[in-house]
Amino acid sequence: MDDCLFCKIIKGEIPSAKVYEDEEILAFKDINPMAPVHILIIPKNHIDGADKLNAENSAVVGKIFAAAAKLAEEYHLDGGFRIVTNVGENGGQTVRHLHFHLLGGTKLNTVLC
Ligand code: AMP
Ligand code: ZN
Repeated sequence: MDDCLFCKIIKGEIPSAKVYEDEEILAFKDINPMAPVHILIIPKNHIDGADKLNAENSAVVGKIFAAAAKLAEEYHLDGGFRIVTNVGENGGQTVRHLHFHLLGGTKLNTVLC
């Protein structure tokens, strides 16, 4: 996806503060953190959002959650954390490349919407 911000980050065309990378996923710090720890975890293969997941492309989601658990340990989020994915315009998704927000480092607000 030539026009996708996160694909450009994956290709290194736009800089990012990487915290984890393997063949299938990339994790980097959110540029506008909403919590002391705010990391975005994305598949390297472009998927528009959680609404476009299917039996063929969804295995990476398990890997993303496993990476989130590892990062949470690394960042000492012992008291808990949150993983969020916004979907589409009504869901507040501003970057149309599937991504999971890993938020923690403080007691998070319990309001879901
Ligand atoms: P969402 O609103 O769920 O689509 O999340 C998109 C997130 O991407 C927001 O939290 C932005 O702060 C973050 N973001 C946008 N541009 C960048 C960038 N260049 N590097 C890191 N995070 C970014
Ligand atoms: Zn993309």
